[in-house]
This record gives sequence, C-alpha cells and structure tokens, in this order.
Amino acid sequence: MKELLLNHYGLENISLTKMEGYISTNYRVDSDQGRFVLKVYPQSEAADVLAETLLIQQLDYLPQQLISNPIKNNNGGIITHVTIENDEKILRLITFVEGQFMAEVKHSNEMLRSLGAFIGEIDRNLISYRNTGIKARNIDWDLQNINISRQLKEHIPEAADRKLVEYFFMQWDQHVYPKISSLRKSIIHNDANDWNVLVNGDQVCGIIDFGDATYSATIFELAITVTYAMFGKDDPIASAIPVVEGYHEEFPLLKSELDLLYYLIAGRLCMGVCTTAKEKKLQPDNKYILISEAPGWDLLKKWITINPSFAKNQFYKAVGFEPSTFPSEEEVLKKRHQSVSPIFSVSYKKPLYLDSAAFQYMYDKTGNTILDAYNNIPHVGHQHPKIVAAGQRQMGQLNTNTRYLYDPLQEYAEKLLSKFPDALNKVYFVNSGSAASDLAIRLAKRHAQKQQMVVMEHGYHGNTKQGIDISHYKYKSKGGPGQSEGIIEAIIPGTFRGMYKGQNAGALYAKDLIETINRNSGDIAGFISEPIVGCGGQVPLAKDYLKLVYPAIRNQGGVCISDEVQTGFGRLGSHFWGYEMYGVVPDIVILGKPMGNGHPIGAVVTTNEIAESFNNGMEFFSSFGGNPVSCAIGSAVLDVIDEEGLQKNSLEVGNYFMAQLSTLQNKFNCIGDVRGSGLFIGIELIKDDNLTPDTFLANTIKNELRNRNVLVSTDGPYDNVIKSKPPLCFSKENVDQVIFEFEKLLVINH
Ligand code: PMP
Repeated sequence: MKELLLNHYGLENISLTKMEGYISTNYRVDSDQGRFVLKVYPQSEAADVLAETLLIQQLDYLPQQLISNPIKNNNGGIITHVTIENDEKILRLITFVEGQFMAEVKHSNEMLRSLGAFIGEIDRNLISYRNTGIKARNIDWDLQNINISRQLKEHIPEAADRKLVEYFFMQWDQHVYPKISSLRKSIIHNDANDWNVLVNGDQVCGIIDFGDATYSATIFELAITVTYAMFGKDDPIASAIPVVEGYHEEFPLLKSELDLLYYLIAGRLCMGVCTTAKEKKLQPDNKYILISEAPGWDLLKKWITINPSFAKNQFYKAVGFEPSTFPSEEEVLKKRHQSVSPIFSVSYKKPLYLDSAAFQYMYDKTGNTILDAYNNIPHVGHQHPKIVAAGQRQMGQLNTNTRYLYDPLQEYAEKLLSKFPDALNKVYFVNSGSAASDLAIRLAKRHAQKQQMVVMEHGYHGNTKQGIDISHYKYKSKGGPGQSEGIIEAIIPGTFRGMYKGQNAGALYAKDLIETINRNSGDIAGFISEPIVGCGGQVPLAKDYLKLVYPAIRNQGGVCISDEVQTGFGRLGSHFWGYEMYGVVPDIVILGKPMGNGHPIGAVVTTNEIAESFNNGMEFFSSFGGNPVSCAIGSAVLDVIDEEGLQKNSLEVGNYFMAQLSTLQNKFNCIGDVRGSGLFIGIELIKDDNLTPDTFLANTIKNELRNRNVLVSTDGPYDNVIKSKPPLCFSKENVDQVIFEFEKLLVINH
C-alpha cells in the first residue's frame, strides 16, 4: 500500500492506520506530505466514486479543510486503478478532515441548530444540482428503498420488537407511500449521523462520507439528520426542534414535508434496526455496524409513545406554521348527539377525542399520548400490525360466509379448539359476545330441555333480549326490566364483601346455591357465570365454588356455561381460560371481545353432545359469523399471543401491578381490596372499616387519571371499583406510570 501511495501520489514516510469502513477499506495516511484518508474500493465502484467526487466539488462554498477533498494522483486523476493481490481495485486519496466528531461531544441546542443549518445549507446548494452518477445509484440506505430493509425484519429475534417495526412500516404504507412521488427531490448526503459530522465548539463545521449520497426526496435528509440528533436524548422531540429550526432557516421546508417527518424518522429507525439485525448475524464482531443498534431501539421505543400529531405540531411550531386545530370534545359530542342516541354513553367527564392508537398507547386529536390501562378488546395491542395485515390480506382475497367451503374457517376452528380440552370440540362463530351468549342459552335450553337459568349476581352477558334476561347487572339496575321468569339468582361468591370470608367461603356460598338448585331440581337448563365477575367489580369466584356448583347443576340435567368474553385468551396470566383457575371444565364457553382484537368476532364452544342436540333440523346461520376475514384475524390473534408470550407477560406484569397496588393499599386506608389475576385487576375504594363504598373517590380518580392521560374505568354495584385490564403488551414501566399518577391522586384526595 505504501508503495502504491509513493508511486501514484508521491507520498513519502508513510504510516497507515486502518479505519472503519462499509464498502471501502479505509486507512488514515500520515506522511511527509500531510495527513490523508486512503479509500480502497472494489473496481465495480469506479463510476460511483467518480460521481461522488463531482458532488463534493459542487460544495465548493465549504472551506477546503472542512470536507474531504480529492487529491489528484501523479497523472492528474482523482481515482487510481491498481491491482492488489490479483484483484482489480481503485484507490481514492482524500484530505483528512480535522476536528471533533459530533458523536464525541455533548449536544447543546446551539449545536443542534447549527447542525440543521449546516445540512440545510448543503441541501440548498444541491437542490438544483444534477449528477447522473449519483442519480443512477440505487442504494439500500435510500428511504425510497425501505422495502429492502423491511424484508430483513425477520432477523429481529424478539417478536415484541419486531411488531414495533412492523407497525411503523404499516404507517409508512399509509402515510408516506402515497405521497412519495409528490415530494421535492434532490441529491442529498443521506447520512448525517454524528460520526460523519464535525464540530468546533457549538458550531458544526464539517461533514464527511458522501458514500450514501443519493437522489431522493429532499426531506429524507432532514429526517435522517433529526433521527441521529435524537439518539440518546431523554426528550427526543426537544432535540429535534433546534435541528428543524436551523434547517428551515437555510432551506425553507414545506408543510407537506413536515406532515411526514414523524413517519420518515420512524422509517429511518426501522431501516436501521432491521439492517443491523441482519448484519449482526453475519458479522457479530463488527462494532461499526452495531454502533447505532441500542440507541436506535431506544428511540424507536420512545417514538411509539409520541403522538404523531404532537410531533407534527411541534415541527410546525419550529418553523412558524400554525398548528392544526380541531373542534373541542364538547362540540364533537354535541354534534354526535344530533345523529347518534346519547344512550351510547361516553366515558369520562372530559371525553376522549381520538385520532389513532398503537399497542398500549392512544393518541388524541390534540396531541396527547394516553396510556391505555383499561381496554381489553385490543388484547394484543391497538393496531397490531400482524392483525391488521391478516385482515387486509384476507379482505383482499376472499370474504364470504359459511355456506361455502374455504380454508380459513377450518384452520381457525382447529387452532381455537386446540386451546380447549378434548371434550370441547365444536365451535359456532358469531359477531359479538352478546350473540354468543344468546346462542349459548339457546344451546343450553335445547340440550337440557328445560327453561330456567341460574345467573350470577352483578353478571353481564350481552345486549340481546335474552342477554339482558340473564344479566343481573342490567335487569336489576336503573332502567332495567327486572328479573324475568325462569331466572334464578346466585349470590356473588366474593370474599371481600358478602356473607362468607376465608378458606371455606366458596363451599358455603356453593352450599346456599345448591339448596336453591335442589329446590328447582329438574327445571334448570344451565348456570352461567364469568370466572371473575367483571361488571361486579372484578370479583373472583371464591375457591371451590364452581367445583361444587357445576356437579349440582349437571346432576339435575343442566349445563354449565363459562363466559370468557373478558377473562379468556391468557388475560389472567396463570391460565389461558378463566375456568381453568378453578379446576373445572364447562359444557359451553362464550368468547368475544379480545378474540378479534377489535374486529367483531364472538364464538360459542361446546361439546359434541350439546351440538348434536342443537342440530335438530333448523339451520343456524350467521351472515358474518365465521367469515374468512374474521377467521384470519382471529387466527392471527392466537399466533401473536403465542409469539409474543403475552400470557406470560400478563402474569409477570400483572403480578408486578398487584404488588405495587398492595404497597399503596398499606399506605392508604381507602384502598379496601386489590384483586384479580394477571392483567385483570380491580381496586375497591372504601370510606371506612364498614367497607362503605367510596364511589365519589373512585370516580374522581378515574377522571383525574384521564386528565393525566391514563385510562382506567370504574364498575361494581357501587361503582367504587377501579378496573384495569389493559392490552397484554402492557409493561412494568407502564405500571409505574399508572402507580405514580394514582399515588399522587390518593395523596391529594385521601
Ligand atoms: N359477556 C361479557 C362478560 C361481557 O363483558 C360482554 C361485553 N361487555 C359481553 C358478554 C357482550 O359482548 P358484546 O359487547 O361483544 O356483545
């Protein structure tokens, strides 16, 4: 190498130090003639290297020492063709840019602003510059080619990490892809990371490595610059703002560009972590490749907690555009009531006006990120990309009904039934929990040839006529029709309130109910209950209760129904289905809510025997029940629960949550009880030792938590139980946020 440098560039007394490099092998060259960088490329890069050199010459406004200028060889050429160990190579000698890398210093706002201005100035100088060599480049690191790195996502080992990049790729498809062709295009540096940028004090003074320069959307330049500027920062947006400000001053941005910036940044991050995941496998020891891995993931995980509208408005503000405005929640609600009956109640004193959501976060119109510690329907997380993709794919292929044959029905039925004991081997698909409970009661009555139903106090099972009849929570409450004929009420076997406490409570409650069953013996078609009574205020059934009640019901010819609409699909952490907690197997199971992660699916699962009794000649048909789209979605939900280990997460995070709540309970007398299982939790608030319910406090806390961007609900006969049943991807950090806000409110309101 030294000989080549002497022969072609006349350099003497050379010492070489190897530097990191991607396509080229790089050396620092110290010689009598000065310090340089030697880059050795494969022959195939010749045209590219030439184009890059021309591009650098375009930036001649920059002082010589601040950019890697080409050094001509003895023949006056800027590249040198050589043969090294029988390989055709090209050499390129460039000036060594002295200075401190931005990566090595703390970033002040002044420096970030200067970074934006420096890059903006480059882009202004390049906006109308054309260079066919650069234009012909087709590089993987061009955000236009995001699909190349997207294919590498499978190399990300953790499903829970993969879902994040899949989510942002999905956002790219929705927000960026349709707009790409209308964006301004120009040649951009395309890699202003802090190991490529040089600083002097608070001022950015130089940039190196035009190896990724490409002809692409100009706004990608800012997106990339901002992405790196946010690495390792506690408040990423606060670090992004000065960069955007500085850039805009040099090169004014368009609204249409800023509208996409949030998604472009996410796209660049995803590109980075996908590429690294693959490279890590291939070259586990290459530090240069891994340099951005940890901060990339860190930022991606923060990015999902930032409302896209908030980011957009901050970017608007930075450049002096007016933020987007919306009608107030009150105005929206008023308008809604003109066309939609107010019988559809709206949660919280200050209703939520939502724009979008991702996993356990909901984004409102005004830019808040709301931690969803409440909604159990988006079981695997709001807008989970696998669920969305499954639905989109199937919707684009076939959607029909069970009168025809198609594979998704069979596949899903088998997958779902594999989660049940062998005896439960027939499934009916419907579109809601209500339709499922309605059907379950029909099955029970037909099979048993009886009409009476034993229902659980404070239980809720659905909104149909039959659903209301079996839902004590509805028929006994305000506006309810009262108890129907043939309905027998079971006292809720709770151990916090109620008649019996302690180890024997379940047996004592069961004994009372069995006496009632015996009085009606031979007339009872079935018994229905949730394993933990949600609307009753997350009340678990006392131990041994179901073990004693189920046989009593069966002995007189009835069937046992478990409503798993809320408790199923791993939510309880310890078990996949709630009934498993009690060591019983029901005859009929009702499924809904989480089954489709928000897509309307419900199901009844039962035994062959009961299904046979129902199959009496009259067809059962549901227009939408079991349609291929619903089946594909339901199937994807089961896959995600398994892939992401969500039942285990529910157990671990749920136990952590309960432990934190118990600590609060020891500090605050108003917390009477903390109960539940996994991420299905109830916190009962009381006024005194007589367990006087503190409905006011529960409601105050619910509404104040909402005002602090945390969602929980209240329920129970006195509406004094705070309920939390979040998406199962809820994390311990999320729990910490809930506990932090909850404790503050308890201190204020206690
Ligand atoms: N059963 C239970 C336990 C429920 O919580 C619900 C809904 N809250 C239903 C049935 C009815 O489901 P859907 O609203 O889907 O009709």
